[in-house]
Order: sequence, then structure tokens, then C-alpha cells
Amino acid sequence: MAVDVLVIGAGMVGAACAYFCAGAGLRVAVLERGGVAAGTTSGGEGNILVSDKEPGAELDLALLSVRLWRELGERIGADRLELEVKGGVVVARTPEALTGLAALTARQRACGVAAVDVTAGELPALEPNLTPDVAGGAHYPQDMQVQPMLAAAALLRAARDLGATVHTGTEVLGFLRGRAITGVRTSAGDFAARWVVNAAGTWGGEIADLAGAPLPVLPRKGFVLVTEPLPRVIRHKVYTADYVANVASDDAALETSVVVEGTRAGTVLIGASRERVGLDRRMSLPVVRGLAAGAVGLFPFLADVTLLRTYLGFRPYCPDHLPVIGPDPRAPGLVHACGHEGAGIGLSAATGHLIAQALTGVAPDLDLTPFRPERFAA
Ligand SMILES: Cc1cc2nc3c(=O)[nH]c(=O)nc-3n(C[C@H](O)[C@H](O)[C@H](O)COP(=O)(O)OP(=O)(O)OC[C@H]3O[C@@H](n4cnc5c(N)ncnc54)[C@H](O)[C@@H]3O)c2cc1C
Repeated sequence: MAVDVLVIGAGMVGAACAYFCAGAGLRVAVLERGGVAAGTTSGGEGNILVSDKEPGAELDLALLSVRLWRELGERIGADRLELEVKGGVVVARTPEALTGLAALTARQRACGVAAVDVTAGELPALEPNLTPDVAGGAHYPQDMQVQPMLAAAALLRAARDLGATVHTGTEVLGFLRGRAITGVRTSAGDFAARWVVNAAGTWGGEIADLAGAPLPVLPRKGFVLVTEPLPRVIRHKVYTADYVANVASDDAALETSVVVEGTRAGTVLIGASRERVGLDRRMSLPVVRGLAAGAVGLFPFLADVTLLRTYLGFRPYCPDHLPVIGPDPRAPGLVHACGHEGAGIGLSAATGHLIAQALTGVAPDLDLTPFRPERFAA
């Protein structure tokens, strides 16, 4: 049976697209070559951040997402997503870093971000176990977190309750087309649809190639360290001010910044590394050691805490650090929702919402021009 929308990929972004499209009354089928959250959604942390974004299109998307995640928490249930509005704390280790951070918070406040400058003396009230060796910081009460795999599964379940179908173990191999795209060819047969949404994350470029409408999505590798479960000794997502610069960097070489956070499950997650080394899944002890040392620098008590495991994932990186969202004029019928780099969990809610608006002819809540797929052509 033909549906209105085929969503390729059952990661966080595909799940959000399926949920919002089904909620808008569209008939939806999700096609996933592995299982639910088989891609980068199982390799990241799950923060929904406004704090790490400079004013511009991505911050606008993040602000919309924060609002939508709160609504999802109420509608689906915060427990089913492990949604926690715990806030973020950014720490400046030097007076120079603090000056830069204060300038960023001022720019963000002008865009509607709740960003509170915090003195070094005020930081222990937010994070009692933080090193005293800091110049100051900022508190972002809007930042929140979900458990990405749970959240993707919960949104897919909610989409199914709205009539969507989910086909795991189904690899998309090519497109069916007349004048426009009319469906896809898969390992489990053909699927017909009016629109095909490319939510294949880091593999979004491969799907775009199959449709003859290339997109430069590349993998940007990152490790996460997981400690043994602890009582709630780290209350926020805490990271150093240089993290924002690393996120925005175009360098292919290894970059690390210190990111530490407690989770509802009690484990502490430690990041963040970024490097463009293709899909190389090898473990790197120097990177893991560097991240652990950075975390101990911020929270000295972690020196006596045991690491349970490390894992890694590949962020879907576009050269201008913006995702690709919206219909592709080069391949009518094809719609993209990919390339969200290190923010795809957070930005998924707004992405799914905007895709549903685009496919139902509703004026979008945000201008999609900065995210248009053909912007790389030149
Ligand atoms: C170390 C690390 C930390 C991170 N931390 C955060 C964070 O704190 N907050 C945040 O917002 N983001 C974070 N991210 C980024 C985030 O994880 C990604 O942006 C997000 O998971 C992308 O989701 P997605 O659904 O687009 O892609 P994916 O989860 O990769 O889903 C794409 C799916 O498409 C499927 N697929 C691919 N090709 C085909 C095909 N031909 N046929 C069928 N299916 C196909 C794949 O199997 C996959 O399941 C982090 C990433 C890393 C690596």
C-alpha cells in the first residue's frame, strides 16, 4: 500500500519526523536497515542544548526544539524519554575565557536564551564538587537531556499509535521515479510514497547520491566515557568555554574539550572528542586518557571513580555545521532531514515538526532557507 511519507532511518531524527508527520495526519512508514537507533543515536549523549550555539539559524532551531521537547515530555511522559530539564553550566578557567563567555551570553540573551552570568564564588552553589580553580561561568536553565535510544523508541511507538509502520531490517537500495520520486527500492521490496524523507544521519549523503542529489555529509567521530553509577554528585551538564569553539571548528584533526554530566541512571558521561577519520571504529587510548584527565581537572573527585566503559559514534557533519532540512528541488519528492552533527538529538524535535509542516503545506515556524539542500551546489 502506498503511504504519504517514507522515512529512511529510525534514529532520533527519523523517529521525530515519523511522529510529527503521523500527528499531522499523514500515512507514514519508517524504513531502517538495522534496528531502532542503530546509527549515531546510540553513540551520543542526548543533550538538548541552547548554551553551545551562537546566534543564528541553528540557535533558532534549538530554541524551537527546546519548546517542543517540553511539550513531548508532557504528551509522551518525561519518564519514557528520561527527559530531564537539568540545565547547563559553562565554566571559564581563565579571565580571558570568561570575557569571551560573557560576550557570548550577552549575544544569546538578545536572542531569547536564558543565560545567567555566574561568578566563581557562585559556582559551588550550582556544582558543589567543581574545582575551585575557575574564573567564573554561566548557567543555562533551558538546557536539558534525554536518553536518546529510549526517546527514539518512544517517539516511534507514539508514531505507530498514530498509524505509522516501522520496518527494521529493511535497507534502501535505490529510488523509484517517474517525473518525481515515487518511492524506494529496498532489500524487502518496493515501497511507494508521495514523499521520501532522508533521515539517514551520517549516511544521508549516500541516500542523496542514490537520488542523484548529492549532499556533503561526513562522519565526525567522538568518544564518550561512562563511569560507574554514583549518587547525584554532578547536577548539570558542565563543560568548559572552549567547547563552543571546538564544536564550530572545521579542523579534521583531533580536538577535545571537557564535558561532564550526571545522568538520571547515576552514571557520569564524559566527553567530548571530535575528529574526521572516516568511519574508523578503532578505540584510541590517548583520546580516552585525555578526556578522563580533562574531567578530573574539572571535578577532582572523579580521579577515584571507576570507568565502566567507553563508546563512540559518528556525528553527521556538514561543512557549514548546519543540518539539511526540507524538500530538495533537484529531486522532487525527496525531502532531507539529516546532517545535524553533534546536535541531532536536541534538534530532532524541531526538525520533525518543520518537515511535517512542509509536507502538509503549513507555513513553517522557521525559515528553512539556511538549511536548504541545494546550498552546497556552488
Ligand atoms: C560522541 C557523541 C556525542 C553526541 N552528543 C550529542 C548530544 O549531547 N546532543 C545531541 O543533540 N546530539 C549529540 N550527538 C549527535 C547525535 O547523536 C546525532 O546528531 C544524532 O544521533 C543523529 O540522528 P539521526 O537520526 O540523524 O541519525 P542516526 O541515528 O545515525 O540514524 C540514521 C539511521 O539511518 C539508517 N540508515 C542509513 N542508511 C540506510 C539505508 N540505506 N536504508 C535504511 N536505513 C539506513 C541507519 O542505520 C541509522 O539507524 C552526539 C554524537 C556523538 C558521536
